[in-house]
Amino acid sequence: VRLAERVHLVASGRLGFSLTDDYDCHVYALDGGDEIALIDAGGGRSTDALIANLRADGLDPGRVRRLLLTHAHGDHAAGAASLREALPGLRVYASREAAPWLRAGDERAISLDVARAAGMYPPDVRLRPCPVDAELGDGDELPVGDLTVRALATPGHARGHLSFLAGPCLFAGDALFYGGRIALQDTWDCSVQESNRSVERLASFDWDALLPGHLTISLSQGKRHAELAMAAIRKLGVPPPLQV
Ligand SMILES: [Zn+2]
Repeated sequence: VRLAERVHLVASGRLGFSLTDDYDCHVYALDGGDEIALIDAGGGRSTDALIANLRADGLDPGRVRRLLLTHAHGDHAAGAASLREALPGLRVYASREAAPWLRAGDERAISLDVARAAGMYPPDVRLRPCPVDAELGDGDELPVGDLTVRALATPGHARGHLSFLAGPCLFAGDALFYGGRIALQDTWDCSVQESNRSVERLASFDWDALLPGHLTISLSQGKRHAELAMAAIRKLGVPPPLQV
């Protein structure tokens, strides 16, 4: 689904538009001309459908050279291994912190073990080990064709969480959602304070489209969602929780 001139939605699960498997986050394709980058991988049960959606939007899967992972949770990263196998030459990018978990398929580190036990995922969503070709740190920039993507460290929802800025687009992963909402969970690496600092940080940059990991997308005036979250944070409060 084409969202904007160079941004397509190619997977989305039940916390989104049910375009693909229930356990997929929003997966975006950023078209840089010579090459395409995917933002996040989904849960891995509908890699074929994701690739079919690229084709349906006129995007040649052969141009997909990079996969940028916002974080290592199952619905965002468990599909990385199958995408890397399906798309020859695909380079996988993750934060320095998340990269070892992905390489090892460490389901405990990404809380997939407890999430599965809590019934949030079916038994066949697994974190298959996936090579990570490059590790990203805060402020790192990489080209995607004629576009430049900048990685921003935005922990809080999870350790090693990155958001990605590309021109007017903020790919926020699970750091900030429509309505100024955030997603806190009872997992070892979730932190209210880190989440608030990350939202503050995102609010300090110039961007217009809020392209989060789930639920509603804001193609313009996205900053108002950051402002809604900031209204709570300025009072030492916590932005409202994601409602599903
Ligand atoms: Zn997450």
